[in-house]
Amino acid sequence: MKTLSNLRNKPLEEIDPQIFEAIKGEISREQNKIVLIASENYVSKAVLEAQGSVLTNKYAEGYPGHRYYGGCEYADIVESLAIQRAQSLFEYRDGEDTVKVDHVNVQVHSGSQANMAAYLSILKQGDRILGMGLDHGGHLTHGSKVNFSGMLFDNIYYGVDRETGHIDYNRVRELALEARPKMIVAGASAYSRTLDFKAFYDIAKEVGAYLLVDIAHIAGLIAVGLHPSPVSYADFITSSTHKTLRGPRGGMVMCKSAYAKAVDKMVFPGIQGGPLIHVIAAKAVAFKEALTEDFREYQIKTLKNARKLCDGLAERGYKIVSDGTDNHLMLVDLRNKGITGKEAEEALGRADITINKNAIPYDEKPPTITSGIRLGTPAVTTRGFSEAEMEEVADIIDNCLRNPSNERNMQMQRQRVRALCERFPI
Ligand SMILES: *Cc1c(COP(=O)(O)O)cnc(C)c1O
Repeated sequence: MKTLSNLRNKPLEEIDPQIFEAIKGEISREQNKIVLIASENYVSKAVLEAQGSVLTNKYAEGYPGHRYYGGCEYADIVESLAIQRAQSLFEYRDGEDTVKVDHVNVQVHSGSQANMAAYLSILKQGDRILGMGLDHGGHLTHGSKVNFSGMLFDNIYYGVDRETGHIDYNRVRELALEARPKMIVAGASAYSRTLDFKAFYDIAKEVGAYLLVDIAHIAGLIAVGLHPSPVSYADFITSSTHKTLRGPRGGMVMCKSAYAKAVDKMVFPGIQGGPLIHVIAAKAVAFKEALTEDFREYQIKTLKNARKLCDGLAERGYKIVSDGTDNHLMLVDLRNKGITGKEAEEALGRADITINKNAIPYDEKPPTITSGIRLGTPAVTTRGFSEAEMEEVADIIDNCLRNPSNERNMQMQRQRVRALCERFPI
């Protein structure tokens, strides 16, 4: 029998070769494939280092200065910095005024937990929520029947216009006037157009609903001013921290001061126990990075790359839902190409391009098949791709989707992917 003291100081490779090998495999997967999954990114070394730190050992139930455990002096520093930096990140100038986030909770473990905490802080079971339908680009937590949000609340959905692919704000208003929801949720996982937060705010105000804006996908763009901010309009802003924001897997809730206490109480002790202080440390580091000019330039490039990829596909006869993109992602409607989303995902996977199939609005195929794919540029932009590479990626995608059963073709495309990946190490 090995004793515990024998195990304590050995490297992972010796203690657990299976996990060590899986991590090694993941490193080479990330290096050798082109990731166009719109919700993924590569964090910095500093973020990884913070997350892999001894802070994982610490219990810190409660909030900075008010903990239920001793020994929280460093946890307090970490969490306070994360909160301050989040506030700086989402603060902006509007003419003479500085618009600020009143309150931030950085303890939520994920974007889904952020929504759960925000909903439960002021809604009761059975209350009505108006959110974007999952089948039109909304998120599971915006009222899908298989999610807690659909189980606990009475949900109605808005979507996009069949012709334009844009959110139809008149329709949102009609639905709101008809159904009188307690809360309206703005935000999406697969919507490529700028969101009009003022329009949502006016509708919410007219019907007396709370407004929650879920910025999980576009948080990084908002932080640098490349997408309008919801801060002056929303009662609650929820986000994940690992998409365009390029932090560790996690979430955050921001809210007006009136709801600060209720949100904090709902996060802990309402729906969570001890906060993940090591992850909060990594969030703090990511927020610091996001406050730099480098990060702003990164977001500008992410948008340029998305536009280039979009144009490259459109030139090759692909129909883009809403005919373009204002942000980091796009939905490709494959119906005119005689290939399903599932087949496209599989074909691109064989060429070492990782994407996800995605329902398009008014999709007639089931979610396991779909008629579309979702593509995003945050990850490839982090690794250094610029517009020339996006043009090549569009061409590779087109070649794969036109001729997926030709092995020679697929091998050629895979080689092109490999060459690109080698030029841009992660
Ligand atoms: C990704 C996403 C979330 C959830 O994030 P998780 O961290 O995966 O729970 C919530 N809302 C929207 C709109 C998202 O895109």
